[in-house]
Amino acid sequence: MSQDSLAKMECGECKQTNYYSTRNKKIKTRLALKKHCKHCKKHTDHKETK
Ligand SMILES: [Zn+2]
Repeated sequence: MSQDSLAKMECGECKQTNYYSTRNKKIKTRLALKKHCKHCKKHTDHKETK
């Protein structure tokens, strides 16, 4: 198993956690991705949270 931490991807509109992404601890930048939110029923910006 890797030591990569698991980051939650949170919808910027409804704040629901919809996705998890594995990330390398060495990378400090926060991700923001356009993903489909099943709660908003559309594509929204998903931001990485702890
Ligand atoms: Zn949403």
